[in-house]
Amino acid sequence: MSALETTALIKRFGGVQATDNVSISLEPGQLHAIIGPNGAGKSTLIGQLAGEIRPDSGAVKLLGQDVTTSSVVARAKLGLARTYQITQLAKEFSALDNVLLACNARARHNFRFWRSAHDDQAAVSEAMACLATVGLRDIAQRSVNELAHGEQRQLEIAMALATQPKILLLDEPLAGMSQGESAAMISLLKSLKGTYPILLVEHDMDAVFALADRVSVLVYGRIIASGSPPQIRANPEVRAAYLGDEHTETSAS
Ligand code: ADP
Ligand code: MG
Repeated sequence: MSALETTALIKRFGGVQATDNVSISLEPGQLHAIIGPNGAGKSTLIGQLAGEIRPDSGAVKLLGQDVTTSSVVARAKLGLARTYQITQLAKEFSALDNVLLACNARARHNFRFWRSAHDDQAAVSEAMACLATVGLRDIAQRSVNELAHGEQRQLEIAMALATQPKILLLDEPLAGMSQGESAAMISLLKSLKGTYPILLVEHDMDAVFALADRVSVLVYGRIIASGSPPQIRANPEVRAAYLGDEHTETSAS
């Protein structure tokens, strides 16, 4: 059984075919990367997987269950966690408070004021464990405003882990990062893959080729190729459509 699977997914925005007959699957224990140029439809695809965007047609299955018409909350309860291309943190709160909010959302499925969570020692140690996993244990008490961009992205992963997910959807976790920050995030993702099936939308090709078990290439809403990183690297259609002259020259020289 696939962790996540789409069948012939279609989504139009006016005249734009943002998702054009997309059938992909994420297998247990795998990191499947979706790459493609800006506007290819990557975020739209993630939105349909998470339940934020309703497809015009086609189906989405989560752990074998048809969730095509299920809400974001229903999918989250089944174990789907996602991070966003643009950070969604409560910036004036501490890193720990942000993770506690995510723990709370899972534990009670209803909203509790964050302050009361501090009393809950179990929640605090669970949140601290998530922060430790992403390497942020030492800055748990710092407010998000004071964190570097890379640390904020790591914090978002900690929040996703706090929901005790079965599947991770990550939308461009390396966006806007310095080289050092990227390296830290790549090793974090390496440590998480295997534990969680991960669907990773990413622009950074080197990271994708370093991390992915499987790569699918999205261009104008369509999957033009899907395969192992070496297969994708060698695919002439992919090189023409996406990798472009720059990559062709680099690898040829
Ligand atoms: P990517 O994440 O690969 O950059 P997107 O999924 O954001 O691509 O966008 C795919 C296409 O769909 C683009 O042409 C974009 O302008 C269009 N699009 C995305 N969301 C909307 C929307 N809510 N309304 C209208 N057009 C949209
Ligand atoms: Mg996007």
